[in-house]
Formats: sequence, structure tokens, C-alpha cells
Amino acid sequence: FAINMTQMQLLEELGRGNYGTVKKVLHKPTNVLMAMKEIRLELDDAKLSAILMELDILHRAVASEIVEFYGAFFIESCVYYCMEYMDAGSLDKLQGAGVPESVLARITQSMVKGLKFLKDEMQIIHRDVKPTNVLVNKRGDIKLCDFGVSGQLEKSLAKTNIGCQSYMAPERIKGESQNNLGTYTVSSDVWSLGLSMIEIALGRYPYPPETYQNVFAQLTAIVNGPPPELPPGHSTKAIDFVSRCLVKEPQSRASYAELLEHPFLVEDRTREVDMVGWVASAVAYREAQKSSASSTGTASPSNSA
Ligand code: ADP
Repeated sequence: FAINMTQMQLLEELGRGNYGTVKKVLHKPTNVLMAMKEIRLELDDAKLSAILMELDILHRAVASEIVEFYGAFFIESCVYYCMEYMDAGSLDKLQGAGVPESVLARITQSMVKGLKFLKDEMQIIHRDVKPTNVLVNKRGDIKLCDFGVSGQLEKSLAKTNIGCQSYMAPERIKGESQNNLGTYTVSSDVWSLGLSMIEIALGRYPYPPETYQNVFAQLTAIVNGPPPELPPGHSTKAIDFVSRCLVKEPQSRASYAELLEHPFLVEDRTREVDMVGWVASAVAYREAQKSSASSTGTASPSNSA
């Protein structure tokens, strides 16, 4: 079925990203809560229609590790993208209270399965793997969103995406500086996965804080410096797993099949993990931080960009 704006009851704002606002909405005909992302694009109607056609393949991206797509439409120069509402929000804001290694393993399991599904079943490379693009719900599900399906949309957005924390693999940084976008392969996502895992474990972006203000220093550290590692205190399985993702040479990085057979993920499949309990405590911590920050007037020390 095709969805449209008249069917939506607008509820609260869920967040703002680089490209627009995300609102919680109720789709009245089905009584389904959705997250509706508004993306402002100064394009003509023909280009906007082309983007909607490209987004249509998302209807086939149905997997338990992928945020469900309900449809998209445009009004004037805005694309409205409607997806499954994830009631615990994005992972970057749930890291604060700490993430036990068993939870990290379960999160990683979902991310690898989701990425492998996109590649094998949809021939899609995610291209933007990072904790803000991993959404969580109170049932403990971990799902990926914001992957690159529409070439037109990516092109229209590309220039504005200059984050201060880069998850890009070294070969992408080098390729882009040579104006060669052809170097992007699926293994670039594996790098971003490894970097995201360290961020989830540490509760902050892995490269040194002095590089946050200086894009050049950060990109130089990624290309020329040693890859980051999980700190000691983590199991050797976890440390080894991350080191298989953060190999600077893309050809030598692990594949998804290899990662799924790695002892870190094999072990995860043998144990019970209380994801519902972890999400509940992480949400409670986030809300407590938020209210103490607003009562003292200071910003919370969140590591989001
Ligand atoms: P960015 O451009 O930084 O990736 P987005 O525009 O995708 O951010 O989203 C902004 C914020 O809206 C996110 O940080 C998240 O908290 C919230 N959000 C996005 N999608 C959903 C969703 N499907 N369910 C619940 N919250 C969401």
C-alpha cells in the first residue's frame, strides 16, 4: 500500500540528523507507530520521483536485523521516509552506562547478520556503519538503518556529510582524496563495524579527542596511524575479533562469513543474554543524564557528533 501525509498523526520529535528531522508519527489507517524522517532536497519533481523509485527496493529489505521500511513520499522539496519506530533510539546514546561484553557480542552478531543480509540478498553495501545508525528497541532488538540504496539520494546528500568523527576505512579516505570513489567495497563496512564496536565498548569515539576538532589530523591518524584496539580487560576473543575488522589493508580484512564463524560470535550463539534488561537500564541511565543536564543547564557529555 502507498502511504501519504494525510494518514499521519504527528507526535513528538525523535531527533535531528545532518539532513533533517525525525518525528514519531502514528499511521492512522493501520495504527502503526512509525519514525518519519524529513529530508529537504532542492531538486525538481522528476529527480524526487526517481529517488522514490530507487527507495522502493527497500520494501524487499525485510530481516530481523534491518529497520523496516514502510514507504516514502515527497511534498514540495522534502522527501518523507517512513520506517519502523525503534523505541529505545540509537545506540550512540545508549553506550553511556557501559556495555558488558556479552551485550557487545549480541549487538555485533546482529550488525554482522544485518550487513551480510544486505550484501547477499540485496547487493547493498551499507556505506555508513556507525553507532548512530544502529537502532534499538525495548524488546532488545538491534537493527541497522540509513544504508545507501538510492544513488540519486546519496549524490544529493553527499556534500553535507562532513562529520567530525569519521568511521571511514583508510582506503576510502585515500580514494576520496584522489577523487576515486571506486575503491569502496564491502570490506570498508567491516572497518566501520570494528571502529563502532570499540566506540560501543569505550563509550566514546576511539581516535584521540584532540582529533575531534581537526578533521585533517583525524583522517591522517586513520590512514597513517596504527588501527585502534579494544582495551585490555576485554577477552582475547573480542580483541582478536576487532583486530580482524580493523586491518588497514582491505583485502586482508575479515569477510562476514569469517566473522560469523569467529569464536567471539560462535560463543554468543551459545549463551543467554538479557538484552531486554540491558536496554531498560541503558535507557534509564540516558534519561537520568538528560534530566540532570537540563536541570543544571550543562550539556551532557555525550559523544554524539
Ligand atoms: P543522522 O543523520 O545523525 O544519522 P538521523 O536523521 O538518521 O540522524 O536521525 C536523528 C535521530 O532520530 C537519531 O539519532 C535517532 O535518535 C532518531 N531516530 C532516527 N530514526 C529512528 C527510528 N526509526 N526510530 C526511533 N528513533 C529514530
